[in-house]
Parts: sequence; structure tokens; C-alpha cells
Amino acid sequence: MILIVGASLAGLRAAEAVREGGYEGELTILGEERAMPYDRPPLSKEVLLGEKGAAEVLLPVAGGLDARWRLGERAVGLDPVAKRVRTEAGEEVGYDSLILATGSGPRRLPGLEPDGERVLEVRTIEDALKLAAALGRAERLLIVGSGFIGVEVASAARARGVAVSVVTLDPPLVAAGHLVSRAAAAMLAANGVELHEEHTVASLERRPDGVVATLDEGTTIAASLAVVAVGAAPNVGWLEGSGLELENGVVCDAELRAVGAEDVYAAGDVARWPNPLFAGRPMRIEHWANAIEQGDAVGAAVLAGAEARPFASLPSVWSDHFGTRLQVVGLPALADSFDVVAGEGDAGEFAALALLEGNPVGAVSYGMRRDFAKLRARIRSELPVSGSIH
Ligand SMILES: Cc1cc2nc3c(=O)[nH]c(=O)nc-3n(C[C@H](O)[C@H](O)[C@H](O)COP(=O)(O)OP(=O)(O)OC[C@H]3O[C@@H](n4cnc5c(N)ncnc54)[C@H](O)[C@@H]3O)c2cc1C
Repeated sequence: MILIVGASLAGLRAAEAVREGGYEGELTILGEERAMPYDRPPLSKEVLLGEKGAAEVLLPVAGGLDARWRLGERAVGLDPVAKRVRTEAGEEVGYDSLILATGSGPRRLPGLEPDGERVLEVRTIEDALKLAAALGRAERLLIVGSGFIGVEVASAARARGVAVSVVTLDPPLVAAGHLVSRAAAAMLAANGVELHEEHTVASLERRPDGVVATLDEGTTIAASLAVVAVGAAPNVGWLEGSGLELENGVVCDAELRAVGAEDVYAAGDVARWPNPLFAGRPMRIEHWANAIEQGDAVGAAVLAGAEARPFASLPSVWSDHFGTRLQVVGLPALADSFDVVAGEGDAGEFAALALLEGNPVGAVSYGMRRDFAKLRARIRSELPVSGSIH
């Protein structure tokens, strides 16, 4: 019996992969959320703009995959010797092979915990629908954090006529490297977003009519509500004490087998594995494309057993904000310089190669999809590869 814990993108893709690989045995998918698997990228984009609702973000599931879907059930413990997962309701679910696809959840900051009303976060469809409704009544939105989700929420709020203040320690979109950061800061300013960079919220007062934040340098910001978007952490709490090696995710070997137990694998936001494309550097990638590729690979690995092949992946992410598309491949945050090959790097549209000591480590682009595709192909061909790129 194959058991998958986590009924979202990576879990669904792993289930599809074992079926496509010819597995005809019992397949159980256990997931904490009540909804069938849905797509998260639209949650901070189309859902906030009112263009998509819960039904429009559902992922297609061919014929139910002949799987037993146990939704609304949370796994709370793993005994890898007895090969059993315990659920919150106290039930035990056995397996021959286990795939961990529990993803990641929003990081939280003391004093800024979500309350479902004045302080929100965006991870689930419920979160997004709640924020979409709140934006219809808001005058000013305070966003803490300026990663992909923070910037996308800022864009949606501005499109809906809401004033926006962003408080951020790091420059905007820091994971995409300094060239994108600079362009994103200019884009935020051009769209009337008030950016408080290199600052944090020292305290937050929740009032009946909104919030008042006091920043570390003393400025106060009154807003109708706050969204906290300060990154994500892997959902591994339930695995503590199981014997699995946990360190910023489920530590896996090159074939995505979890270290510390037999017949346990991991995929998606929760998995950390040595990526052969980057000299075996351990990586945990929180991107849509990786969840699909790793779900695919882990399904194949479960069926292949000892014959499984190492998983290699070129990190790849997009973001839509302020009417343009950002595309990122590789690890541009590692870059010490950028070679702008098309457009102008400071603002507007551009495509650039990210270099570390003269060697390409990634590419970035705002709006120039064709130029980006060429750079992406170049990165793929130049990086060291052992094993296959899925
Ligand atoms: C708002 C938002 C916008 C995004 N936009 C983009 C984008 O534009 N581009 C991009 O590349 N990526 C984007 N991403 C990232 C992308 O959606 C994730 O990388 C992807 O969802 C990861 O899939 P996953 O299946 O590994 O994990 P998740 O989607 O996090 O799913 C994990 C599932 O496991 C469940 N679970 C957790 N713990 C347990 C437990 N103990 N028992 C049972 N079930 C459990 C969770 O409830 C969840 O349903 C975005 C993410 C968010 C939140």
C-alpha cells in the first residue's frame, strides 16, 4: 500500500506518477485540508482580484486516481518501524511505502499572529477568500514582508484601490537577486506603495476598526488590516521524534528517500535534498514547478526502489505583479553580478544572466519571455548535471 501524506500539488503529482507508472495496488492520500487539491499561485493573484473563486482553482484529478482520499485528517505521528502514520483522530494508517508531501506553512512573528480578521496570511483558499473580501472594505493595507506573496498582495490591493504600506527587513524580492530587487522597489514606488525597507514592526495594536503598527524606528502606520508574508517553514512538526532526519525540511538522499527510515520518501516544499545541478548543495525549493517535478520523480522512485535515479532540478519560479511577469531560474540570489542581455536593468522590462565569479548561476526577467527562454536554455546547458533534469 502506498500512503501519501499531504493532498496538494506534490502529493497529487506523486499519486498520478505511481498510477502512470503502472501501480495498481492500494493508494491512500491523507490531507489536512478538506478541499480536493487546488492550485496556490492564483491565491495571491486572481483570487484577490475577484477573478477566481474556490471552484476555479481546483486541480484536475483524472478519475479520482482510484485512490482513497482521506481529507480533513491531519497526520500527527509516524512510526517508521511499524510503518504506521497516526492521525489526529487517533487512527493508525499502515503503508508499504510512504510519501511525505506536507508542504510548508507561513512563518509567524511574535505579536503578529494571524487572527482571521485584523491580521491575515495567505496560504489556503480560505485565507485568500477572506483577504479578497476584506480588501473590498479596506482603506489602507499594511503588508509585513516583501517576498513574492507580499509583492503580489500589494499589487492586487493597489489594483482594487487600496492604499498600501509595506514594511520589510530585506529588499523586495530578495530571493531573485539585487537587480530584481531594485526594479521591484521602483515598481512599488511607481504604483504608490509606501515602502519601509530595512525596518520591522516593533508592536502592533489591534483595534476594532483596524491596526496600528509601530515600526522599530518609531513611525506609526494605521491600516484597516495587516497581511503577514514573511516566508514559509516546512511542515515537519508532526515528524519530530520519528527518527527521520529533519533540518529545514525532511532531509532526503539524492533519490528523495527520507534519511532515517526505510521506504519513506518526500517531495515538494517539505523535501530537502542534494541537488546535483548545484554540486550536491542541499536545497528545499518552495516553487510550483518543483512540486510537480519532485512529485513525478518520487512516484517513479517508489516504483523503482533500489533502481531509482537521482533527482536534479533547476529552480524555476514566476510571479505576476503590477501588470508584468517576473521569471526566475537558478539561484540569482547567489550572484555577484548581472549581465543585462535585453531591455534596461533599472526599471521596465529586461532579461539578465546572473553570474557568480563570472559563471552563470541563474537568470531573471521582467516581461521579456522570449529572451528569458534563451537564457534559461543556456543555464540548463551550462550547469553541471549528473542524473537527469526532470
Ligand atoms: C499564495 C501563494 C502563491 C504562490 N505563487 C506561486 C507562484 O506564482 N509561482 C510558483 O512557482 N510558486 C508559487 N507558490 C508556491 C507553490 O504553490 C508551492 O511551492 C506548492 O504549493 C508546493 O506544493 P506542496 O504540495 O509541496 O505543498 P503545499 O501546497 O503546501 O501542500 C501541502 C499540503 O499538506 C497538508 N498538510 C500539512 N501538514 C499535514 C499533516 N500533518 N497531515 C496531513 N496533511 C498535512 C497541507 O494542509 C497542504 O494541503 C505560491 C504559494 C502560495 C501560498
